[in-house]
Amino acid sequence: MTVSPLAWLRRLHSAFAAGAQLLAPTSAACFLCGKPQSAARSVGSAVQTKLLRQLRESLCGDCLSAIPWLTRIACTRCGRGIPCEDCIRSPHGAFQFNRSAVHYNSAMREMLALYKYRGNEQLAPLLAAMLLPVFEAMTTEIILRTSRSQKPNTKSETRFTDCWDAVTYVPVSMERENERGFNQAEQLASRIANDYNLPLMQLLIRTRHTEKQSFKSRAERQRDTQSLFNVRADQLQRVYTRISNSTNERNKGQTVSRILLIDDIYTTGSTAEACSQALIDSAAWPIEMYILTWARS
Ligand SMILES: [Zn+2]
Ligand SMILES: [Zn+2]
Repeated sequence: MTVSPLAWLRRLHSAFAAGAQLLAPTSAACFLCGKPQSAARSVGSAVQTKLLRQLRESLCGDCLSAIPWLTRIACTRCGRGIPCEDCIRSPHGAFQFNRSAVHYNSAMREMLALYKYRGNEQLAPLLAAMLLPVFEAMTTEIILRTSRSQKPNTKSETRFTDCWDAVTYVPVSMERENERGFNQAEQLASRIANDYNLPLMQLLIRTRHTEKQSFKSRAERQRDTQSLFNVRADQLQRVYTRISNSTNERNKGQTVSRILLIDDIYTTGSTAEACSQALIDSAAWPIEMYILTWARS
C-alpha cells in the first residue's frame, strides 16, 4: 500500500516514538551517538523505502525517534509547524512558499553541524534523503493548487518533470566553499535533481562573504542580503529555452517558469527572499519561486 509522504512520515514518527517496533538492532554504529543502529522492516513507496533504508543505515532507534519531522504545517507560507507571526508581520512577496523536512531543534543543529562544520560528509546522503518525502508532498500540493482540471493526476510518472523547470540552490561564497570543501545546499539540490530527473542549474552567485547568519538579528539579516546575490544570465536563459521547448500541459499557451530553490535552513526567509527576488528581477518572463529547506528554525 502506498500512503502519502507526510502521512507516512507521521506513521514512521509514531512507530519510532512508541518504542520502534519496526526496528531490530544491527551491528554498525549510529552517526550521531555511536549506539548500534536499527534495521527496519516496514516498506512503502520507493522513496519511502529508500529513506527508511538510509535512516536505518545511519542512526540508532533513539536518534531516529528524536527526528522532529514537520508533518503538520501551520503556516502555509513558510512551512512552519506552529502558527507564524513573522509571515503576517512582514510577508515574503518574492517566493510562493517554503517547505522543510524537520524542525530545527538542538538535535538537528547537532546533525547539521556534524555535516557542515566538522566535515562529516557521510551525512550528506542521509540529509538529502530526508528531503525526498517533503519534495514529493510539495509537488503534489502545487499540482492540486494550480491544476485547471477537476482531478489532476498526482500519481503520474512525469509529474515531477512536468511540475518543475529547474532546481537550483543558495550559493556560498568562494571563501566559504574553499574552507568547507563543498556547498551543502548544492549537495542537497543535486540529489533532488538526480533522483527526479530535473535540470540542476547554478543560477546564482554570492557576491560577498557574510558573517554567520545565526548571530544576527532579523533586521541585520535583511540588510545583509541586499544585493548579495547575482544572477547568471546564461544559466537563466537555459530555463527559458527549456520551457519554450516544453510540450507539457502546464506550459501550453503560457510561459511561467517554476524554479525550486534549495537551502539547508530557513530562518527568517530573507535569504530565500533575496535569491528569489534576484531571479525574478533578472528574468524577462514570469517566474514562480518555491523553496525547499532541510530545516525550519
Ligand atoms: Zn543514535
Ligand atoms: Zn510563516
